[in-house]
This record gives sequence, structure tokens and C-alpha cells, in this order.
Amino acid sequence: MSNPQETWNRLRAGADGLHAPNDTDMDRPVAAVLRCADAKMAGAGVFGQPAGSLVDLSSWGLTVDTSVLAGVDFAVETAEVPLIVVLGHDDCAAIRAAVKAWNHAELPDGAMRAAVEGVLMSLVGRGASVESHAHVAAAHAVETGLSLLKRSPALTHRVDNGTCGIVCATYDGAVLRVHATMGDVRDASTALVECV
Ligand SMILES: [Zn+2]
Repeated sequence: MSNPQETWNRLRAGADGLHAPNDTDMDRPVAAVLRCADAKMAGAGVFGQPAGSLVDLSSWGLTVDTSVLAGVDFAVETAEVPLIVVLGHDDCAAIRAAVKAWNHAELPDGAMRAAVEGVLMSLVGRGASVESHAHVAAAHAVETGLSLLKRSPALTHRVDNGTCGIVCATYDGAVLRVHATMGDVRDASTALVECV
């Protein structure tokens, strides 16, 4: 079984368009990716991985709800993946809605409201500048990673014992940027805010 760092190196190489080694037992997923429901590209496309090789979790605005937590618990407990990637993105409708809510005190109705409130909490929690959607998206990816860690005891246990890591990143259609890592995983190309 791969460790968090080897798994991230494989995904990073795929995202950078490099040839990814094809030495993984394909009976098991390589990693899990939580992405935003309005992202143009799923994790397999972003990371250059074969279809079906990732546990693909999505929610609008990266909302962490029971469904997402169940998917994370499945990924780490049953599929035993060594890595969870939280993947924000540019031109995100949820980030736009949160910035609009911040600037105009105007929240959407219905279930979208909780997602926008989640982005606003991240914005406040990390002191992100509302002037930059990319900055808000980065802050929200990091806060979402921390939220998964807080709310999934199964994930916390595996991050603590080194068998799983978390990478919080954003993708703009061309470049993957890592904003934080948790557990025994690092990204060589980025100056990181290490959260754990
Ligand atoms: Zn989005």
C-alpha cells in the first residue's frame, strides 16, 4: 500500500502533465478527492488518473455534511486510501456567492445558504481578503481540510498514525496550487502553511 507522500507525488506528477507510474493495484482507489460540484473537471481529470482510480466526492462549495463525511469514512476505513485531497477551484459559483453575500449582505435561499455560510466562516476564520476570489478559495480549501479532520475520527486517527494525509489545493484550469498539508505529506513546489 502506498503512503501519503508517494500518493501525492503520483497525483502531483499527473497534475503537472508528467507520466505517472502505473504501479498501483487498481482494485483499490489511489486516493479520495473532495471537489466542488460546480467545478468543470473532476479529480481524475485534474490529476491525470484513470477513471475510477479515485474516490470522487463532491458537494457544492465543498460543504462538509453527513454525505461527504460518510464518503471520507468509506475512503479511509474501507478503501484504505492514504490521501484525501480537498480541491477548490477558480471561477467558483459558491465563492462568488459568498463574496456577494459579504459585500451586499445578501444570502441565497434554501440549501445553498448553508454552503455560502460555510465559505463565509472560512473567510473569517483565515482572515482572507475578499478582494481576491482565489484567496477566498484557498482559505476555504484549507478550512475544509481542517473541518474533515475535526469531524471524522476515522480520518484523524489515520492522520495521527501516518497512514493518511490531507492536501488542500486549488486548480485554475492549468495550475494546481497547494495551500496546506496535514499529516506526513509535503508538496515540494509550494511554500506551505503546515496546519498539523
Ligand atoms: Zn465551485
